[in-house]
Amino acid sequence: MIIVMKPNAPVEERNKIVAGLEEKGFKVDLGTGKQAIIGVVGDASILNPHDIMVNDWVEKVLRVQEPFKRANRAFHPEDSIIDIDGVKIGGKQVQVIAGPCSVENRDQVVSVAKSVKMGGAHLMRGGAFKPRTSPYSFQGMGLPGLDLLKEAKAETGLPIVTEIMSTDVLDRFVEDVDLIQVGARNMQNFHLLKELGKTKKPILLKRGLAATVQEWIMSAEYIMAEGNPNVILCERGVRTFETYTRNTLDLSAVCAAKKLSHLPVIVDPSHAAGLWWMVPALAKAAVAVGADGLLIEVHNDPEKALCDGAQSLKPERFAELMGELKGIARIIGRDL
Ligand code: PEP
Ligand code: MN
Repeated sequence: MIIVMKPNAPVEERNKIVAGLEEKGFKVDLGTGKQAIIGVVGDASILNPHDIMVNDWVEKVLRVQEPFKRANRAFHPEDSIIDIDGVKIGGKQVQVIAGPCSVENRDQVVSVAKSVKMGGAHLMRGGAFKPRTSPYSFQGMGLPGLDLLKEAKAETGLPIVTEIMSTDVLDRFVEDVDLIQVGARNMQNFHLLKELGKTKKPILLKRGLAATVQEWIMSAEYIMAEGNPNVILCERGVRTFETYTRNTLDLSAVCAAKKLSHLPVIVDPSHAAGLWWMVPALAKAAVAVGADGLLIEVHNDPEKALCDGAQSLKPERFAELMGELKGIARIIGRDL
């Protein structure tokens, strides 16, 4: 249940309602927006909205159908804007994360970071820990890969986005990573989500391979329930009957997630398509439907990439795409 106070309601009136709810055993969340909003956590079915409306300072009482509260737009009507080392995701500016699937060596990661920066990227990515379907495939460089990402950041100033797969490296990630990615395969690793929720780090939560929009937002709720509000959702394609593409990009999920939640939503067309030549068209479509950002794989030598070369853009094509995306952003009243 969500209680919306009138815009000029005195704080004491809100506090009186909160105290009454706490007396009844409810946990209460206070919204962070301009208007005072009280979120009632727990089974609010025993509460009668009319009893709460007895207080004249209450504007309305909403019964929330969705099982998520902190991630719910009803609780936080304004779009959330997440600050990643000065780069704000969720506002007017569409932000682009670019870089290789995995960190392979110093020259590769520094060279790609420099090219994507020149092309106009706002953050850089690179996997140090790689969740691979086969145990015989390249598993990533691990922590030495993180050191190389730091070198790339020192050279370019671009904030680092990289995937965490287990909590044993959490302290290093909190120290060195600007935006911690939870991959599709770990979207429902609830232990990992809870531990990330205990930090204040921005988290990029990818949609699971076959997760519904509600399941995806519930995973965001796990992080937020522990006290970390800095979550960004990432649609990266879902498993369907289609085999031509690696996954099926679900752009309707961007609209749905943004309607249900105040969290920023970005799109990863690279893992959705699995085909480099399709990435520019899908990236443009994503911006057109209102995505707050993009995650695009770029490699200096895709033919030799240790992971996901087939879906990686060369730096020149990435730079060209950034120009094209600017045009789309302008048409819908956004910057890029
Ligand atoms: C990735 O971003 O490199 C990745 C493994 O993505 P996903 O979890 O979406 O498959
Ligand atoms: Mn990849």
